[in-house]
Parts: sequence; C-alpha cells; structure tokens
Amino acid sequence: SKRHGRGRSSCYTRGMQEAVSERVQIETNMRTAIERGEMHLAFQPVLALTDDHVIGYEALIRWDHPTLGAISPVQFIPMAEETGQIVPIGAWVLQEACRQIALLPGDVYVAVNVSPVQFRSPLLLSHLTQALSQSGLPAHRLEIELTETAIVEDGSQIATMLEAIRRLGVTVAMDDFGTGYSSLAHLRDFPVDRIKVDRSFVATAESDRHSMAVLEGITHIARALGIPVLAEGVETPSQLELLRKIGCDAIQGYLVGRPEPLVRAATSQPSTSQR
Ligand code: C2E
Ligand code: CA
Ligand code: CA
Ligand code: CA
Repeated sequence: SKRHGRGRSSCYTRGMQEAVSERVQIETNMRTAIERGEMHLAFQPVLALTDDHVIGYEALIRWDHPTLGAISPVQFIPMAEETGQIVPIGAWVLQEACRQIALLPGDVYVAVNVSPVQFRSPLLLSHLTQALSQSGLPAHRLEIELTETAIVEDGSQIATMLEAIRRLGVTVAMDDFGTGYSSLAHLRDFPVDRIKVDRSFVATAESDRHSMAVLEGITHIARALGIPVLAEGVETPSQLELLRKIGCDAIQGYLVGRPEPLVRAATSQPSTSQR
C-alpha cells in the first residue's frame, strides 16, 4: 500500500533514493525513447567454424539516454518486462533488425532476442510477420533467441507457439544454454534450430574440468540430435581452438567482433581469419 511505501522510504539512504528516482526516470523515459531516436541496435557477428565465414549477426539493443548516458539492456530489459514495454520495444527491435540485415548483400541471418514476456504475448506472431513483410527479408534469415525460462514457465502453449513460429519459416535458437535446469529434457520436448552455449562455460573451460566436461557434453549431445552448437563469449585464440577441437559449429565473441552498428560490423574482417 501507499502508506507502507512511505514508511519504508524514510529508511532509505540518500543513495538509495537516487537509485529509486533514476529507476523511475528510466521507466518513464522508456515509453518514448524509441520515438526520440535514443535506441539503436548493435550487431555482433557469428562465425562458422567450418569455413571461418560470418553467417549471421545477433542484434543487441542499445539505449543512449540524454542525461544518464548509455543504459545497459541488462538494466532496462527487466524493467521493460515488468511494465510490459518490452512488447512494443521488442516489435521495434524485430522491425529494425530485419530492415538493416535486408540491406546487406549475401544471405546472412539476423538473430533477435525475444523475451519470455514477448513470447507469451498474442502479438508476437503478427510482429514477426510485419517485420518480415516490411523488410522483405526471407523468413529463414530471421532467428529468434529464447532463453530456457521462456520455455519452462508455460507448459503446452509453448509448443504451439514454437510450432507457429517455425511454420512461418523463422528459426529458433535456445540462448544461454546450460544455465537453466533440465536443459536436455527441453531439447526433446521443444525442438530448436540452434543451441547457444552460455559464455560462462567458455570462460572457465580452460581452468575448470567440470565446465569443460559440460561444454563437451552439450556439444556431443547436440551433434547426436543434429542441432548446430554456437559458443558465446569467445575472447581468446586458445578458446577458439578448444571449441574447434570439441566440434562446435560456430562462435560469437569479442575475438570475432564486438557488437557495433551494422555498417561497421559488416565491413570489418573477423580477427580469427588472419592466421
Ligand atoms: P545475451 O543475449 O546473452 O547477449 C550476449 C551478451 O554478451 C551481450 O551483452 C554481448 O555484448 C555480450 N558479449 C558478446 N561477446 C562477448 C565476449 O566475448 N565477452 C563478454 N564478456 N561479453 C560478450 P549486452 O549487449 O549487454 O546484452 C545483455 C543481455 O541483454 C543479452 O544477453 C540479452 O539477454 C539482453 N538483450 C540485449 N538486447 C536485447 C533485445 O533486443 N531484446 C531482449 N529481449 N533482450 C536483449
Ligand atoms: Ca542472445
Ligand atoms: Ca546468450
Ligand atoms: Ca544472457
């Protein structure tokens, strides 16, 4: 209640009050940030290890706030999910990602993060269809990235939604794989087109036997199921070589390229090809 809230606020330190008012400011400004042109997309390349070619890009949202500066999606996406703003913001991301990728020569794909809240929204299918028709991008060049939480929370409706998305021709990747629970059961129940192994496994594989075992295990099982594996967060040449040896299909990470505006991302050479 209101009274309870006021009572608690008297205990706040000055720093906490500032944090709260910043949060309110972020929440309020989020509604109009897109029309004010404060949001843009950064694109990070995906490198296929079979032939060391860029096969796609992941679109990552960026917000440059006029007074607060760059606000990380780690901070504002959860707020957008709580307020429901993620639905219109996510629709814009889909539209903008497809529009920009369609302008590139070749047939690279674009991967777009879709929040569990969007995934549960009845608007998602029409947002996908609109982004494709407005950009002219063929459906098979759009991939959506879902985390396991999107798949865990609802039971039967998930399968129906996944089926509808794949019927459009859009592919589905499971993001941050290995960080949720009962991951392997999900692969059986909800077939996906790609697995993205969380970067925490890549970061610790060389120093931690258990991480290494999980990384190898995921790759082998995915291979057996015929699902391509992409490792995230690859930062060093030795991580790359390890992933090659294990049989990973693709990588993403600072070693190949940082997220940046597409014009720059598409013209810079991946550093791994200079051997
Ligand atoms: P994610 O989907 O797991 O995205 C990967 C994150 O790892 C990105 O952070 C990327 O910049 C970062 N990254 C990439 N390569 C490396 C590397 O080599 N080393 C390290 N340390 N980090 C690397 P970012 O852009 O800050 O995004 C964070 C999260 O915010 C994303 O995690 C995703 O969950 C969410 N997000 C970003 N854009 C969107 C969006 O458009 N919609 C939704 N729903 N979520 C988004
Ligand atoms: Ca992602
Ligand atoms: Ca990820
Ligand atoms: Ca993540």
